[in-house]
Amino acid sequence: MIKENYEQIKKEVGSDVTVIAVTKYHTVEETLQAYDAGIRHFGENRVEGFLEKLSALPEDAEIHYIGTLQSRKVKDVAPYLTYLHSLERESVAKKIDKYAEHDVKCFVQVNISHEETKHGVEPEALEAFVEKISEYDKINIIGLMTMAPYTEDEEVLDQTFRKLKELRDQLNINYPSITELSMGMSNDYLHAVKEGATYVRIGSKIMGSR
Ligand SMILES: *Cc1c(COP(=O)(O)O)cnc(C)c1O
Repeated sequence: MIKENYEQIKKEVGSDVTVIAVTKYHTVEETLQAYDAGIRHFGENRVEGFLEKLSALPEDAEIHYIGTLQSRKVKDVAPYLTYLHSLERESVAKKIDKYAEHDVKCFVQVNISHEETKHGVEPEALEAFVEKISEYDKINIIGLMTMAPYTEDEEVLDQTFRKLKELRDQLNINYPSITELSMGMSNDYLHAVKEGATYVRIGSKIMGSR
């Protein structure tokens, strides 16, 4: 099942888009099945799950930290972080810089939908935030990330993803190395890809619902 799901999605999104299988609700055993199905990019949103999957998976698996990272937990994961999709606080950037052993590829999370429950930097504050965290040596900002509102309204989805792309294009005037767009989940990845996603984070549509 996992293999069929993954192959189908890869075909839909094309070879320029990296498919991250979000395994946060799934066991180590299921995650290893995903590895055997050919998946090499995994997403976890909690420190415990991240460390657990990291120690279970072979070395060529890349585990992306996609959830909110609390400042007090940075120390535990920073030495193992390669990709962080949820950077939204300077305090976290500062601690990563202190505890990481290598550069961390970071996406700045942007709050486009303005839902109170959503995390992320406000669009108006984005460039100033990027400027500030660029000072930290180990923070390598490679792109922007957002989560669309939970809706079936296709116009709202398209607008959300288009807005993130526009923000990236604007940033590129001063920050041409910020190229990636992490956007799209099980319910909306086709919209995200249409608007230029380079990473999609897909849980249930690959792994099955929990
Ligand atoms: C859980 C999660 C996903 C995947 O969600 P699905 O709807 O299962 O595809 C993607 N991104 C983030 C940040 C998540 O927490």
